[in-house]
Amino acid sequence: MTVLIDGKAFAKRLRDFISLQVADIKSSLGVVPGLATILVGEDPASEVYVRNKSKQTIETGMASFKHTLGSATSEAEVLKLIAQLNADDRVHGILVQLPLPRHINAEKVINAIEPAKDVDGFHVSNVGMLGTGQKAMLPCTPLGCIMMLRDHFGSLSGKNALVVGRSNIVGKPMAQLLLADDCTVTMAHRYTEDLEGHCRRADILVMAVGRPEMIPGDWIKPGATVIDVGINRVERDGTTKLVGDVDFKSASLVAGAITPVPGGVGPMTIACLLFNTLTAFCRAKSIPEPE
Ligand code: NDP
Repeated sequence: MTVLIDGKAFAKRLRDFISLQVADIKSSLGVVPGLATILVGEDPASEVYVRNKSKQTIETGMASFKHTLGSATSEAEVLKLIAQLNADDRVHGILVQLPLPRHINAEKVINAIEPAKDVDGFHVSNVGMLGTGQKAMLPCTPLGCIMMLRDHFGSLSGKNALVVGRSNIVGKPMAQLLLADDCTVTMAHRYTEDLEGHCRRADILVMAVGRPEMIPGDWIKPGATVIDVGINRVERDGTTKLVGDVDFKSASLVAGAITPVPGGVGPMTIACLLFNTLTAFCRAKSIPEPE
């Protein structure tokens, strides 16, 4: 029987845990963790993401500081806002919604965030700390994936893990987290030869490409655990549907466990952003952080 890894239910448990922690903090310290979001421009998808992040922040009892800036905002103005938020004691996490308009250098903006407040885990200091096994802020999507894998397996030690996709926000940090959990990690990308062979050897397959249903079930090792990060919109029977990078129907006949799309990795990403904001608060106050 294939296990369906229910990211939606896992994310709800995580948010409930965060709410309890925040309530405890509020009653003992009289303050709450705060997350500032910065949205530049009018990208409709980004507006939805930021609205959801802010809504869920408030639902867990944390403070949300929303900064919505017009598309003509200059890089200097964004940097000035980040400097203010870095210095603001009520703000423990800062999230800049990507992509930014073309005239703004995203790397420069991300690297202006105080690393301790970089709840997306994209600052070069956090990337370096993750790579060298130091205590970092971890990027939310890979953090959600590794939480689900640890919950499913207990120990990941010795597993053959294949990560397909090598972006800075998903693929690379995912591989680092699997390596830190003692997996034997292979990374695949556009130029990988014999992707099918690599898939067939993987006990854990993490797909982070953005190509609808590119992996058929018969490429998957029987009993393997499949984490599908991909979110792809396809037209089927006159309606728009979300599908992953794995062909869920055929893969779920072969895999031992699999995340659905939607309802797998997606819900975990925002829950992990809230988790990181709580972690940042605990580190700032030198109190035990959530595990
Ligand atoms: P990017 O476009 O930044 O990276 C895609 C990666 O896939 C690249 O490394 C690319 O390789 C690789 N790739 C492309 N084609 C192939 C191929 N034919 N075979 C093997 N590898 C290939 O994407 P992201 O990492 O940002 O996102 C990946 C997917 O995850 C998207 O569908 C995105 O929507 C989704 N996503 C979901 C999130 C969630 O919360 N669930 C969060 C973030 C992303 P190369 O480097 O060689 O070009």
